[in-house]
Amino acid sequence: MRAEIIAVGSELLLGQITNTNAKFISALLADNGIDVHYQTVVGDNPQRLENAIRIAEDRADLIIFSGGLGPTKDDLTKETIAKHIGAELISNEHALQSIQAYFERTGREMTENNKKQALVLSGSTVLENRFGMAPGMAAKANDKTYILLPGPPHEMEPMFRNEAIPFLQHAIGSQDIIVSKVVKFYGIGEAELEHRVQKLLEAQTNPTIAPLASKDAVTLRLTAKANTADAAQQLIEPVLAELYSQVGQYIYGTDEDTLSSKAASLLTEMRLTISAAESLTAGLFTALLGDEPGISSSLKGGMIVYTREAKVNQLGIDEKLLDEHGVVSSECAEALAEKVRERFQTDIGIGLTGAAGPDQHDGAAAGTVWIGVAKNGHSKSFQLRLSGSRNSNRLRAANYALYYLIR
Ligand code: ATP
Ligand code: MG
Repeated sequence: MRAEIIAVGSELLLGQITNTNAKFISALLADNGIDVHYQTVVGDNPQRLENAIRIAEDRADLIIFSGGLGPTKDDLTKETIAKHIGAELISNEHALQSIQAYFERTGREMTENNKKQALVLSGSTVLENRFGMAPGMAAKANDKTYILLPGPPHEMEPMFRNEAIPFLQHAIGSQDIIVSKVVKFYGIGEAELEHRVQKLLEAQTNPTIAPLASKDAVTLRLTAKANTADAAQQLIEPVLAELYSQVGQYIYGTDEDTLSSKAASLLTEMRLTISAAESLTAGLFTALLGDEPGISSSLKGGMIVYTREAKVNQLGIDEKLLDEHGVVSSECAEALAEKVRERFQTDIGIGLTGAAGPDQHDGAAAGTVWIGVAKNGHSKSFQLRLSGSRNSNRLRAANYALYYLIR
C-alpha cells in the first residue's frame, strides 16, 4: 500500500507552523509497514486542494489529510473531498451529541457553524475525537482510502494512533503484528556504525534494520513482523543481543531513552550525587540533567565559571595551573571537577572547559573540549575535537559528558 499525506493549511505555506503532523503520521505508517511515497502541503484553497487530491490519486492508494476540519470558513477539507468523491455530508448523531456536551460542560453558547463540525462523509467510518470537537473520517471510494484528520496535533495524534491505524490494519487485512525497537547510539558516526554492523544489516529481513542519523545521534530501528507481539519481540531479541555484542559500548539506550534520562536514572539508581563546574557550556550540562524528573536526589548543584577570574576567585582554581596549562586543558577540566565536587560534597564532579568557537580560545583551536570527571578522590579527563558551530559544539560537549556517565 502506497500512501501520500496531504497537510492542508495556509499557515504551513507561510512558514508560521512546522508540519509536525506529517512527521508523526509518516513515522507511525513506517512502523506499520505502510510506505509513504509523498508528503504534500497545500493552502486553504478548494481548487488547489482538489488538484492535490487528483495528483495523489495517481500515485497513492491511501491519502491521509490533516487540517481543515474545523468550524471556520477556511476549513474546507471535507467539503472538497465530499465533492470530489461524490459523497454527501451528513450529520453524525454521536459527533453532534459530543459537541453539544462540550458546550454544556464549558457553559458556552453553541453556534450554527459548530454544528458543521458534526458533518461527516456519507458511508465513511467516523474516527472519534477525544480531545476536540471535529471527528475524523475514513472513507473508501474509487479503490482509494481517504483518511481525514484534524489539524491540532493533540487531537490528531491520539486519533491517528488509536483509531486510524487499527482501521488501516483491518483494511489491508494484515494478520501481522509489527513490533519495532529503536536502538540509540552515541559517540559513533553513522558511516562507521553501518560499516561495523554491515553483515548484520545485510543479512536481516525480519526484523529489518534501518539506520537513521539525526543531528546529534545515530539510531537503528529494528522492525519485526509476526502473528503475535510476543513472537515479533522474540525475533528482535537475538538481533539486539548481537548488536550489543558488536557495538554495545556505543549504545546508550532504546526507544524513548535520551542521554539525560539514561544518565539521570543511572545516577538515582546507584544513589550517586553529582555537581558540575561549567565554563564552555555555561550551565547546559546541568540544565539537561535538570530536565529529568526525580533528579533532585542526585543533582546537588553547579557553578558557571566562565571567566578565568571566576574560576580562580569563585571556585578556587590555582592560578598557576591556569598560567602553566591554559584554561582549555585537561588540568583545568580536572581541577574544575575536583573543586566543584569538594564545594558541593558530591560523589561525582564534572568540569567542562573548551573553545566553543568560532575563534580559538586561550591558545586552543575552536572545537577543542576537555571534560573532567572527579570521583572517589581520583580525577581523569578526556578530550573532544568538535567541528560544528558554536552552539552545536557546546551541546555536544554537554551530551558527551552525559554519555560519559552512562558508559
Ligand atoms: P480547528 O478545529 O482547530 O480549526 P482544523 O482541523 O480545522 O482544526 P486547522 O484549522 O487546519 O485544523 O489547524 C488548526 C491548528 O492546528 C493550526 O493552527 C496549527 O496550530 C495546527 N496544525 C494544523 N496543521 C498542522 C500540521 N500539519 N502540523 C502541525 N500542526 C498543525
Ligand atoms: Mg481550522
